[in-house]
Amino acid sequence: MKKGSVIYAHCESCEEETPHRILKGTIDQSLDEGFSGTVQCQTCKGVHHVEIPAEKPCMVPMVLSEGENSRKVEIQFGREEGIIINDEVFFEDHNILITSMESEGKRVKRGLARDISMLWAVVFDTVKVKVAIVKGSTTASEVVEAVPDEEFAVGDLLEFGRKKVMITKIKTIRKMVYREGRPVEARDIRRLYTRIARERRLNDTK
Ligand SMILES: [Zn+2]
Repeated sequence: MKKGSVIYAHCESCEEETPHRILKGTIDQSLDEGFSGTVQCQTCKGVHHVEIPAEKPCMVPMVLSEGENSRKVEIQFGREEGIIINDEVFFEDHNILITSMESEGKRVKRGLARDISMLWAVVFDTVKVKVAIVKGSTTASEVVEAVPDEEFAVGDLLEFGRKKVMITKIKTIRKMVYREGRPVEARDIRRLYTRIARERRLNDTK
């Protein structure tokens, strides 16, 4: 942390956590790498002194699933760090998705790391995107594997063996997307609806 950078701290005027710009101050060794200095609230422009102790790490037990296998591990967070279901975090070179968590024997949707007794997560390096191929009154199902960031849009072409299909609409977590030029990330897709764009016969030459 240095002059000019922004940290989150409690502002007494705003009565909440707000972004503060560091005007003066350093990392204080006596505070175990915490921060001590003069800051300016970016919301009310008030200037005050803050001392922020460094976040002590805490280890949270976690059941991590990958495909059909799951194993019990521990993951490190800052004690005061907030964890929310559907958060994606890095763990052992994997992007993982937090699917469930428990605090004081109850399932919760969010909580501070120090209060969480157990986490459940899945390896989320790739996601399986369901594809419906509509042909007349029949619908066939396929799956494409994609990285969570990969984007799909209405009008895109996909290939399944001899079939080439075009995306006609995208069902996302919240809504249906019908328009071209509105790409959706694979992580948010429930299903891609497509129609056959071209089907090659087996004896077709390329
Ligand atoms: Zn303020």
